[in-house]
Amino acid sequence: MLDELRVNPSLLKLDLYCKGIRLDGSCLVTDDGGRPILRTRAGLGSGLEAILPGGLWTNIPVSEPFAQESPYTLHRSSGGDYEIHWNDSPVTPIVLSPRPAWYDAKLSNGKDMTRIGTLQGTYLGIYQAKVCEYWTAKPEKTNCKFCSVGLNLGVDDADEKSVDEVMEVVRRARDESGITYVDFNTGHYDGDTYLDILEPYIRRIKDELGLLIGVQTPPHRDLRRYDDLREMGVNRVSFCFEIFDPVLFEEICPGKHAEYGLDFYLEAIRYCAQLGNKGPRHEPWVTNGEIIAGLEPPESSIAAIDWIVSVGAVPTVCVFRPLVHTDLEDSPPPKTEDMVPVFRRLYEACMEKGLPIGCAPNVHVSLVMLPEECAGLSPKRYPWQNLKLEALKRMFRFGFDRRLKALQRRAA
Ligand code: SF4
Repeated sequence: MLDELRVNPSLLKLDLYCKGIRLDGSCLVTDDGGRPILRTRAGLGSGLEAILPGGLWTNIPVSEPFAQESPYTLHRSSGGDYEIHWNDSPVTPIVLSPRPAWYDAKLSNGKDMTRIGTLQGTYLGIYQAKVCEYWTAKPEKTNCKFCSVGLNLGVDDADEKSVDEVMEVVRRARDESGITYVDFNTGHYDGDTYLDILEPYIRRIKDELGLLIGVQTPPHRDLRRYDDLREMGVNRVSFCFEIFDPVLFEEICPGKHAEYGLDFYLEAIRYCAQLGNKGPRHEPWVTNGEIIAGLEPPESSIAAIDWIVSVGAVPTVCVFRPLVHTDLEDSPPPKTEDMVPVFRRLYEACMEKGLPIGCAPNVHVSLVMLPEECAGLSPKRYPWQNLKLEALKRMFRFGFDRRLKALQRRAA
């Protein structure tokens, strides 16, 4: 296993999600320019942001009790270099994800910039608006049991974020961190108001900065609203149904079950996937179905992956992390050996279907294993598909740069 971990960054990224890491006393993460450990949004990210060999950005669990039992430790040399060890044997050097200067800056109105948005890998993530209403439901809250959003808000995130505040942070993140992509995330609000809330932010960013934009909200009951988003130039919509097994879905996501139901999540994914054929041709469009591996049997996660690709959407697969103070804090994290077949299937299913994976310019994601990052878990090679993806990637980059230059000329 150790020899394999040294040469296979895909396996290392996955194994670190499942086991976490202990920080040796020599580590000086923030003093060395690393990012502080924030209890970030959506309940899956809480750890150390770092870059593994092969350019794999990751977020390694450190705060949860299971991480304290990990065979992995992180050490700092006197020269300030970082290395992962496995039971005292060196595994590989890693680099801390850089903390940008704006992380320590304030908005013009005095608020901390990181209360508006934070980097997840190389993109800017914004948890927009107030807390998800499943957390405040009466007589009993109906939040998803793995989720920490209701614990986080007001601690790391501001609950009210004006368009001007968001624009200020997006500009700084673009200028200083080179972000190309902004991801908006909301919970559930009565009256399906989440898209109404997000649209003013989307229009300003598209009009003034031309960045790629993603939207992750519950599925709006009027699916035609996604035609509007496509028209507006949104590039990604993501629907987190989390669990494909209907019984476990109801048990772990009671609010989602009562409000929308698993079938409607799937219907929204199916509907949005076909919008790729419409809308502004110069704007790429991806639909994601998001699941959490480790909350249901691996075969059920694999069935979810196969279903998602069958409708032309791209699966996003997180690894379950039992975050402190959540309803599932005492559950064990998944075992790596159970996760390998799931993530292998993620890669193979996307390649077999010819989906456009890994094409967005400079988007590295720390909270999940991207499909293309799982290539090291599969013995299969797809030379023609890889050539196609390379060409697509160059095309996206070219189109993106051209649009940015046009906007800069217009602003000048
Ligand atoms: S929908 Fe579920 S996962 Fe999303 S914010 Fe609400 S409780 Fe958390």
